[in-house]
Amino acid sequence: MRAYANEDDAVTDVLRLSRGMSYKNATAGLALGGGKAVILGDPRTDKTHALLEAYGRAVHRLGGAYLTAEDVGTTQTDMDAIKSVTPYVTGATGGSGDPSPATALGVFHAITATLRFLGDSDLSTSHVVVLGVGKVGGDLVDHLVEAGARVTISDVDPVRVADVATRTGAAIVGVDEAHRVPCDVFSPCALGGILNELTIPQLECRAVVGAANNQLAVDADGDRLAARGVLYAPDYVVNAGGVINIFDELQDGGYEPDRARRAVEAVATNLTTVLEVARADLITPAEAADRVAELRLGLTP
Ligand code: NAD
Repeated sequence: MRAYANEDDAVTDVLRLSRGMSYKNATAGLALGGGKAVILGDPRTDKTHALLEAYGRAVHRLGGAYLTAEDVGTTQTDMDAIKSVTPYVTGATGGSGDPSPATALGVFHAITATLRFLGDSDLSTSHVVVLGVGKVGGDLVDHLVEAGARVTISDVDPVRVADVATRTGAAIVGVDEAHRVPCDVFSPCALGGILNELTIPQLECRAVVGAANNQLAVDADGDRLAARGVLYAPDYVVNAGGVINIFDELQDGGYEPDRARRAVEAVATNLTTVLEVARADLITPAEAADRVAELRLGLTP
């Protein structure tokens, strides 16, 4: 749910997001297609129970072809409201809940897999910079610190960044500096578009592995990263932990946290497959991810 400037912007966004879900689900090996819905409105001022019910009825009319889930501008409480009119909702109370911890766990496994791909096996000798320590980034820092990594964090929210630093002992750096810090892994966990023609020449990392959606500002940024010798772990492969966790809710007998947690570990294997395709076919990891997805979707001959 977002305050889009107009309906065209909302349609453009939902098409981009739904395409992203198709590619994410395909590379994650889930028996799901890909869909997304957007509600036009400011979640702080325009959200009412009646609006969520109306949305739920619209989802219900699709007869289960589309399952809705929590995302930007919505909460578990909203999923509960939607559930009052349709069963085609995930993440409501009693289900898989907020996907963020699973997303964070998946990013952690993706970082481990990337370091292994680069020939390192030990996180405890690695330095990771996390930009954005919200729901996903904050949990990711906990996993990294627990594994013994050195961690530097950054966030536009001074209270949040101070809280995470106090809790974990991570060092803090300014938002404009984060991508320039010499490190093993730069992990964007805030907004999209962080990898662009201005920031890529300034990167001092060996790899980029983060949760943020649409990290490459434009497709050519995948080539720019490769030219700089920075290994890019494609965002939609890295951040699939959330939807893998949601998928568990659809199994017979419903959500089982331990089973879901084990399933999220597959992010490491899925990412390694993509990186190996890139290396074998002499293409960028972003291109390799699309290739793997399109093969599974039957879009390539
Ligand atoms: P969040 O809103 O909880 O956290 C985002 C954090 O980034 C906040 O602390 C915010 O202060 C900070 N931030 C915002 N703008 C910034 C900037 N310019 N520079 C530095 N920090 C900035 O969101 P989240 O749920 O943690 O998601 C983070 C990213 O991961 C988003 O791009 C989201 O689309 C993506 N993602 C999240 C999930 C999930 O399960 N939550 C799943 C897949 C992808």
